[in-house]
Amino acid sequence: MILAPLVAAALFAVPPAPAQDERLRAIYKELVEINTVDPTGDNTRAAEAMAARLRAAGFPAADVQVLTPAPGKGNLVARLRGSGARRPLLLLAHLDVVEARREDWTTDPFTMIEKDGYFYGRGTSDDKAMAAIWIATLIRLREEGYRPDRDIIVALTADEETGPANGVSWLVNTHRDLIDAEIALNEGAGGRMKDGRYLANGIQASEKVFESFRLEATNPGGHSSLPRKDNAIYRLAAGLGRLAAFDFPVQLSEVTRAYFDRMAALAPGTEAADMKAVLRDPPEAAALARLSQSPLHNALMRTTCVATRLDGGHAENALPQMARATVNCRTLPGTPAGEVQATLVRVLADDAITVTPVAPAKPSPPSPLTPDIMKPVEQVTAEMWPGVPVLPVMGTGATDSLYLRHAGIRAYGVSGLFGEIDDNRAHGRDERMGVKQLYEGREFLYRLVKRLSS
Ligand SMILES: [Zn+2]
Repeated sequence: MILAPLVAAALFAVPPAPAQDERLRAIYKELVEINTVDPTGDNTRAAEAMAARLRAAGFPAADVQVLTPAPGKGNLVARLRGSGARRPLLLLAHLDVVEARREDWTTDPFTMIEKDGYFYGRGTSDDKAMAAIWIATLIRLREEGYRPDRDIIVALTADEETGPANGVSWLVNTHRDLIDAEIALNEGAGGRMKDGRYLANGIQASEKVFESFRLEATNPGGHSSLPRKDNAIYRLAAGLGRLAAFDFPVQLSEVTRAYFDRMAALAPGTEAADMKAVLRDPPEAAALARLSQSPLHNALMRTTCVATRLDGGHAENALPQMARATVNCRTLPGTPAGEVQATLVRVLADDAITVTPVAPAKPSPPSPLTPDIMKPVEQVTAEMWPGVPVLPVMGTGATDSLYLRHAGIRAYGVSGLFGEIDDNRAHGRDERMGVKQLYEGREFLYRLVKRLSS
């Protein structure tokens, strides 16, 4: 009985949607306007600003920490305590952004401007929308007096764009207890729009593994006036020619099968038929060949390796003693260690070309599309955007989810933030986010977090 008035007061205190939008907008603006470009910007300032908001909202200082492994590289980790019936839910976003120069942009990239239905500014889409939404959501849940059945952890991190040294991988390695969770939500997929029409709400459950190799051919060399048939540049070039003609085998996974299955309902005629045909067992060869002509579809179906750098010789008038290339591979998750290197050696088919990994690969196993995550995502998507399907995706690039998955924490890239598929400005000029889409994403993630914690 004593609790009843408190609960009533807490419910009454919950501001209606316009007030939630206003609050989110203020947090978002503050974040966008703190420059967090590496190394000139200051991630710690952004982390501290968000920590201050949480403390002002009543979070105990012990549950709001800024961890700063290096100057300007602060990470915020905050916790809303739950009953502990289940292991925690981690809400992740990165605070750092890619360089943006005033002279390249129409407006100042570090002043948030609302214009024609969009918010403009560096980080408005990557990744300060999610960062701001997590802070606004945590404050809202606390105001409601919400008692989740698991702790809800928010981590806003450094070093996503430039390298893993001080961000999520550092947290996993040095403060695992602070961020340990059963499930994490992160960037990695959003909603897809075409000319304003909502096509699908993405959920990234898997991503390809980054690994690069150095290819090197050496030769005794000599004077270029007396050429010989064996030449380091020719041997390397011939090997690269064989690699160019080679395709890794097609291999579909739970995630990419679900992707093509659902995309078949959205794609135009022939493409849709091809997507269905590659799902058959065995996949239809002609359909495979046609789909492979799209760089995206090709990358979704197989490991890719491509030459990205080339270097060789030491003088215009000397036979080359060395020729070297870098080959960057994006390996399907689940591929056994060493398999890509062995394939490269076989395809290059020349003992004179050595193949050496540039750095050890960090495998990140796919996170399963289990009902405990898929049902809530599908339910909230149906509530907010009736008829819009949920689309499982595999990232062809990498996000910080890789460090979580590598550490055994299931991670899903899901935001409910819709954007035009043909207008991705992340890392580019005049980055922006739709005003309506930001507020919808706020509501989507709020509801999703509740479903995942009650
Ligand atoms: Zn990002």
